[in-house]
Amino acid sequence: MSASTPFQQRVAAAVADKRVVRAVHLATLKKVEAREAGMDQLRDFEQIRSLAAQVKQHTLDYLPRYLEQFVEQIEGRGGAVHFAPDAEAARRIICDIATSRGLKRVVKSKSMTSEEIHLNQALEAVGLRPVETDLGEFIVQIDHDTPSHIVTPIIHKDRRQIALAMQRELGCEYTEDPTELTMIARRHLREIFRNCDLGISGVNFGVAETGTLCICTNEGNGRLTVSRPRVHVALMGIEKVIPRMRDLPVFLKLLARSSTGQPLTVYTTLISGPKRLQDADGPEELHVVLMDAGRSDIWAGEFREVLRCIRCGACLNACPVYRNIGGHAYGSVYPGPIGALLTPLLHPAGGHEELPRASSLCGACGVACPVKIDIPDLLVRLRAQTHRSHPLAKRVAMRMWLWAMKSPLVFRLGQRLLRGLLKDGGDGWATDGPGPLRAWTQPRDLPIPPKRSFRAIWQAELSNEDKRG
Ligand code: SF4
Repeated sequence: MSASTPFQQRVAAAVADKRVVRAVHLATLKKVEAREAGMDQLRDFEQIRSLAAQVKQHTLDYLPRYLEQFVEQIEGRGGAVHFAPDAEAARRIICDIATSRGLKRVVKSKSMTSEEIHLNQALEAVGLRPVETDLGEFIVQIDHDTPSHIVTPIIHKDRRQIALAMQRELGCEYTEDPTELTMIARRHLREIFRNCDLGISGVNFGVAETGTLCICTNEGNGRLTVSRPRVHVALMGIEKVIPRMRDLPVFLKLLARSSTGQPLTVYTTLISGPKRLQDADGPEELHVVLMDAGRSDIWAGEFREVLRCIRCGACLNACPVYRNIGGHAYGSVYPGPIGALLTPLLHPAGGHEELPRASSLCGACGVACPVKIDIPDLLVRLRAQTHRSHPLAKRVAMRMWLWAMKSPLVFRLGQRLLRGLLKDGGDGWATDGPGPLRAWTQPRDLPIPPKRSFRAIWQAELSNEDKRG
């Protein structure tokens, strides 16, 4: 189902796919448990979380200064920095780097920013064949699918689907054994690494003080991508900068724990420039593409706090809505609670007004966020901004609701009317409301109002008291 399909239809299709719902439920619940266990091992977790939030917010508040310092440091160490005001510019810069140097064999490590700008399609359009080397992203690519989670791209797939895709695309024996499947992919990718000449990565943190790129991965593919090819291009959003090297451990302590419960990702790679004369290996050229693509508009507005996100995925795992509809229903590269904020903010004219409403506002996302983004509050504020996009009938209904809630008389009349309109499905619940109420009652449980309201019972009690007294 494409992203242009209306949101309600995408959700209906997602909820109906019991296999995906089950796979996502199981995987996210495991991650939530692992995160809790990981955080339990961290002394002063709340203080670290507060510190991370403060450092990120401080960096954002002085972003131009830190970006300038970051660029100076990278250039001082022989790297090249390219500023991309939008996605189109970022794609063009990266394609130009490849074509102007005759680079043909492209390997990529996992990068949500590259997904955001649909970089693979742009590279293919100029005749290149980028190969995703993160195992999850590799499976997504060979299965012509899209990621459905910002950390675990194939959270929606089961072993059978993965086995079938590997058998079909790589011509290997059918096996559902995860170790065997991993080894098959590893052998296949090793050959590609041997001959690659351009490596494209994302960046988890860019240290302004030293111009260091920090890349956190759980597979060796990340290091091969940034060290084996002749040219390394690192694509990062402008919000990924942090001030000093001593700030980095604060985030490293939180990132993997929030994602998977690990104390650290298996590989934490720090890159501070291209290969030097005395180095045995490494890329001859390092290019950092600093991408804006809507971020400075967010930065300048009331939702700046959103840019603190370190893409750990904890809010997705904690969210009951994400667990029930999976990532594809959001129709965006960034799903879940953070996606419900980021997507409409990055693409204000993109028709994503429904996303901030895809939340129960239970608050689990805000509790899980390691950089203390108040996601529920921001969702409510974003909803308020987009209420004009509601259909007229809904806006009229909400006005009437407001009016009824303010007037005791209208409220009582409304209660009586509702009692008459709703039919008991036999178990005290209404499942088939009349007219527009049907859309509400069909997918939800709505209890039949009792014959006597609490208010009526209370009034009767009071008058009995008066009579007795
Ligand atoms: S909003 Fe917070 S919890 Fe969600 S991905 Fe970003 S950092 Fe993680």
